[in-house]
Order: sequence, then structure tokens, then C-alpha cells
Amino acid sequence: MPQIWIPLKDIPAEGGEIVVDNQSIWLEPIAEFKLPYRIAQAPAATLHLTPQEEGCLVRGRVSGTVAVPCDRCAEEAMVTVDQRFSELFSMQEDLRDPGEEPAIRPALDGQGLEIEVGSLLWEEFLVSLPIKPLCSETCKGLCPQCGADLNTEPCNCESGTEDPRLAVLRNLKINK
Ligand SMILES: [Zn+2]
Ligand SMILES: [Zn+2]
Repeated sequence: MPQIWIPLKDIPAEGGEIVVDNQSIWLEPIAEFKLPYRIAQAPAATLHLTPQEEGCLVRGRVSGTVAVPCDRCAEEAMVTVDQRFSELFSMQEDLRDPGEEPAIRPALDGQGLEIEVGSLLWEEFLVSLPIKPLCSETCKGLCPQCGADLNTEPCNCESGTEDPRLAVLRNLKINK
């Protein structure tokens, strides 16, 4: 996963805004984990940085459009990402949890601190995606019997769509 280190030394005390549109934030993990996502409109993140003592408050927003498989028919479902978040980066917090990869550190040139926002942005992107995306609210999905995409072709499985347990019950009644 790409790391994006942002130096804080040029951020004014009252806060400053930066735009992060490095596409490797999304494209690298999508390729690495073979995720079925296709970036339709390149996401960009706007970050408002407010320096704190030994840290930085980050309030941000990620927006873009990504195509993901529909939960019912597996065709592409377009998802508009618009995720807002806020995160406090603190040297003290990082020291408390040495197992975590540090997201804040003294800048390599010795001038102030720098924070890593690539992991944060990827996480926020992921949690913004719906658990059950749909290509359309009215998507008919795939036939559970023959696998036909019922949005494009009807199939001849009407009798088979009945719950087999109900069929058994009905037969019992008939046989009485
Ligand atoms: Zn669908
Ligand atoms: Zn069918």
C-alpha cells in the first residue's frame, strides 16, 4: 500500500488545506488484493490540517465514483463515494501503540513532523462502499436455478423458484 507522507512544517498554525489525488492510493491495493473494483471517476481527497502540539488534526473528505459488482446480478454497480472523516495524529498516541505502523514521525529533514495519510485514505474509501451494492434498486438478480440474468432474459424455471420445503409440505397435504 503506498505511503503518502505530508510534512506539517508549512501548514500554518490556524490550519491549511491540501488535496491528495495520488491514484496509487486506490489502484495499488485494488490490484494487490485483486478486488473487483473499477475506478470510474478518479477519487480525490481534500484534507484540512490543523497542527496540534506534537500532532495534527486531520478533517477530510474523499469523493469519487467506483464500479463494484452488484450484490444480486454481479454486473457493475456505480457507487458514488463521498466520505467525510476526522482523525487525530499524535506522537503520544503512536508511542502508546508500538505494534502499529507509525502514521506520524519527525520529518526526515529534521523540520517538524510529517504524517502518513495513504492508509487512512484507503480505509475511509473502503468503509464508504456499501455492503450490498445494487446496479439498480429494481435489479431482478440471477435465477437461483439456472443462473440466467433475469434483468436481460426471462427463464423457464417458474416452478423451480418455489422453496422445496414448501413443496414437500403441499405434497403431504395432497396425499392425505
Ligand atoms: Zn444487479
Ligand atoms: Zn432460471
